[in-house]
Amino acid sequence: MEKEIPFSKEKLEKIKNEYPTPFHIYDEKSIKENAKRFLEAFSWNEGFKEYFAVKATPNPYILKILKDIGFGADCSSLTELMLAEEVGITGEEIMFTSNNTPAEEYEKARELGAIINLDDISHIPFLAEHGGIPDLISFRYNPGNQRAGGFIMGNPAEVKYGLTREQIFTGLEEVRKRGVKRFGLHTFIASNQLDPQYFIDTAEMMFELAVEVKKRLDINLEFVNIGGGIGIPYRPEEEAVDLEFVGQGIKNKYNKIIKENNLDPMAIYMECGRMITGPYGYLVSEVIHKKDIYKKHVGLDGSMNDLMRPGIYDAYHHITVLGKEDKPKTETYDVTGSLCESIDRFAVDRDLPKIDIGDTLVIHDTGAHGHAMGFNYNGKLRGGELLLRENGEVVEIRRPETVEDYFRTLDFDKLKDFE
Ligand SMILES: *Cc1c(COP(=O)(O)O)cnc(C)c1O
Repeated sequence: MEKEIPFSKEKLEKIKNEYPTPFHIYDEKSIKENAKRFLEAFSWNEGFKEYFAVKATPNPYILKILKDIGFGADCSSLTELMLAEEVGITGEEIMFTSNNTPAEEYEKARELGAIINLDDISHIPFLAEHGGIPDLISFRYNPGNQRAGGFIMGNPAEVKYGLTREQIFTGLEEVRKRGVKRFGLHTFIASNQLDPQYFIDTAEMMFELAVEVKKRLDINLEFVNIGGGIGIPYRPEEEAVDLEFVGQGIKNKYNKIIKENNLDPMAIYMECGRMITGPYGYLVSEVIHKKDIYKKHVGLDGSMNDLMRPGIYDAYHHITVLGKEDKPKTETYDVTGSLCESIDRFAVDRDLPKIDIGDTLVIHDTGAHGHAMGFNYNGKLRGGELLLRENGEVVEIRRPETVEDYFRTLDFDKLKDFE
């Protein structure tokens, strides 16, 4: 099955006449529908909140759309906090989940009144010194090699994040001694996970932890944040996570564990990025060269500066050749950018219809971790971001970079006196 695009050939040609390729374009209508459906799947939990992972698509227009639907922001750096603030997301609408945190980031998070999610026990005195301890504190739990519901969670013991199980209890006691009155716990252990059971098991693990926290410390957690990581079907044969199944599965665990232990009401938080915007963004790029050597290569005007995932993760991104959707896939191409790096490829050995110079390629699922991961290596400039509005209008929500942007941190006048 061919993956679809939300615009006709004529419409996209018109957009291309106004805005130069390469650009990412986001489909507002689908983002909104999907976001609302996500909230609906968890509406049985009164305190449910989704904190959109800003790092996935750090564009204020996207954040504004999501804020208006009721999303908060999951921030992890100073600039992400500043972006949220610009959009009017402040206070406990922000969850600040950082690691190896610089002092000024805690200070900014405290200034905004964000929920602070500590990544280590040593950050308690550090936060006390830089910003101060608020009356609500959350800790990030790293389950190590624990299993939840018999389901193996990769190997979190190998990564830098979070506190061990024992440290969760020591940490909660320590902040209580320092005057904290409200408590939450967080975990994030999956990435691009398509198995819905994974999220139900994660919730179960956190609910059981909440029960133990109650038993050992007599603390009622205000919330558990079960993280992001819901995957998206990058490949046409993959299936999207059934959100209703996840919502109902977590509800069953909640009733069994949280209600039966008299811990109800407890809010469930999530912080998905990828599944919120990922499928509704497209990188549009034009073919500027073709070459036949040992393999057939199609060269685009975009590069991995615009989309790093295929290069660094070998990730699959589906490609539609505009206007050739129904043509047979008779050719096998590598689809490349113009960086002096062999990994600068959008697709390897991809079966596609015969491509001509001037064709427009639409690269799918770039709405999250797409433009956001862009960079300037090789002196390449990043393209812009466009938004296809619900009424069909197109607005530029980030202009493409210019050479002036690129040289902004250099002072050529000083260079003249440099010998
Ligand atoms: C990256 C990240 C997310 C979002 O992950 P997705 O795969 O985009 O859902 C959520 N929480 C934390 C702490 C993260 O680092």
